[in-house]
This record gives sequence, structure tokens and C-alpha cells, in this order.
Amino acid sequence: MTKQTIYVSASYLKNTNCWRKFFYSNVERIALKTASSHLEAAQNYGQAMGIFLDAYHCGVPYNEAIEPACVWLAARENNLPVGEFRDSAHLRCAAAGYVKEVPYTFFKPAFDKLSNKRRIQGTFEILFWENDYYRIVLCGTIDMVAEYAGIPEVIVDDKTSGARKEQFFWQYEHGIQPMFYSYCEELRNPRGRYLPFLVNAILVKKPTLKAAKEGRGWDGAIYERSTLFEFSQPMMEQFKFWLYGKLDKIKAFCELPDVAKDRFEEDFDLATCYPQGYIQGCPYTALCRLGTAAERAAAIEYLYERGEDSPTIKALKQK
Ligand code: SF4
Repeated sequence: MTKQTIYVSASYLKNTNCWRKFFYSNVERIALKTASSHLEAAQNYGQAMGIFLDAYHCGVPYNEAIEPACVWLAARENNLPVGEFRDSAHLRCAAAGYVKEVPYTFFKPAFDKLSNKRRIQGTFEILFWENDYYRIVLCGTIDMVAEYAGIPEVIVDDKTSGARKEQFFWQYEHGIQPMFYSYCEELRNPRGRYLPFLVNAILVKKPTLKAAKEGRGWDGAIYERSTLFEFSQPMMEQFKFWLYGKLDKIKAFCELPDVAKDRFEEDFDLATCYPQGYIQGCPYTALCRLGTAAERAAAIEYLYERGEDSPTIKALKQK
């Protein structure tokens, strides 16, 4: 029998605020059939920028680094929705601006001693637990471990977003990903200390004609770095306590007999969770409005499909 792997990444851990959401998203792996095309455009743009950044941070010149990224994005921009600006022409300009802002020497990627490769785009998986039917695996992709501002090793996470600046860094400073990555890095490469984490952001918007007329040139991207997020031993102890609480709950789910697993979905108390999910735009609200498991099963047939794997999970499955 093939075991089902339950991947636990930083973004999937966010779903553990609602176990029903985690169940649908990470165990059943269902997603709404109608994805927002603006969302899709943003995701494609972010992936294309990632292709450029990986090559550029490895020392590939701009002209060579940008071409594969633009080709990749151009192949996906035939049906961009009206008003969508995140296309390959925008990408080219945003990447050119990045090169001016962040010269090659800005980040010095570390070398992995075992593979003797630069530590760029490192997908990791750490087995937490398994039984005969399930594996629980911690996973993620570390964009870069690099020397930055005289600090020998910093985990650098590239983010391409259109989000507003003030809220942008705050969500990471108070989010799960920085601690999760630093914790996993220490598990994989023990140093006796936790590496700090930096967000390297490219915040994109529609370029304005006004800026061009006023001689300010192309203004479709802003380049910003967060402050360094650093983690003391006590902070990480607390994080570990929280993380293992979540993992133990997933493990308990995996150990339930099948009948009880169905009840796990059925019995979930919606009274507290449903309004919160509704406000946050949870993709499963259409299911949670329904009263019975049979109604939900019918709705899943019509409204949902098997979810696409994230780039990290795709990379792990190809290994
Ligand atoms: S709608 Fe509420 S109860 Fe349903 S999955 Fe989303 S957060 Fe959970």
C-alpha cells in the first residue's frame, strides 16, 4: 500500500487554525474549480520572478537571467484578465530595476559543503512521523542562505507582491514562516544557533504615465528589505512547543480508524469557525454552509477539484 504523505509547510500550518480547513486542504487536497485569474496572474508572475532571481543570485548576467523567466511567463499570459499588468514586459522592467538596486555583491550566497553548490532554492523535507498509511513531512523551499550586511548566514526569502508596504513586512514578522524555516534549518544543519531571516521584497504595481512624463522613469516596482528577524533560544522553545502541538494533532488524526476520520469532518463545530472563515474568504465556506456530510460530498463533486501541488511539493515529488 502506498502511504499518503501529509506535507506540512509554513503556509499549510496557517490552515491549522481550523482543522476542517486543514483536512480539506492538506489531507483531501481539494480546491475551488474557479480560480481567480488575477490570482493566477500574480502567482505566475511571482514564479517567473523567482526564475530570474535564482539565476541572478547565482551570478548569471541580467540579459541571460531574464530571458528564460520572460519566456516562461509569456507562455502563460494569453488570457490575462482586463486591467492585469503582471506580464513579461513588466517583469523585464522590474528585474532591470532590481539589478540596479541589488548588485551582485549585495547577497553572497553560502556554499553547501556536501554538494558544493550555492545555497539557492533549496527544497527541504524532514520526516516527522510515519505509520503504515501516512507520512508527516515538514517541508519548504529556502530561496537563499547568504551573507548579508556582514552577517555570514541569513535565510533570505524573496517575495514578489502587490501588497501595501506597511502591512507587508508586519505579516511576516508576526507570521509562521521565518521561525519555521529557521527551526528546520537548524534541524537539518545543526549549528547550535538559529539563523536570522530576511524578507527581500519586490512590490509591484501598474507603472504610471505621470512618472514617465515627470522624468522619473518606470515606477512599476519598489524594492525593500525587512529588518532582520532574529530568534533567541527561549523564542524557539515556545515555537517548538506550538509546532509539536500542531504536529501531534495531525498525527492523532492519522492514527484514527477510517470511521472516526469521517466523523472528524462531520463533527466539526462550525459555530465559532464559520464566521471567521467567511470573513477571511476561506475557500471552503461553500461546504461549511451545508448541514450534512452527504450534501458536502455532492458539493465537492460540482465545485471543487483535486488541488494543484505547490511548487515546493512538486519539486519534492520529482525527487
Ligand atoms: S469555513 Fe470556517 S469551518 Fe469551514 S473550513 Fe473554512 S474556516 Fe473552517
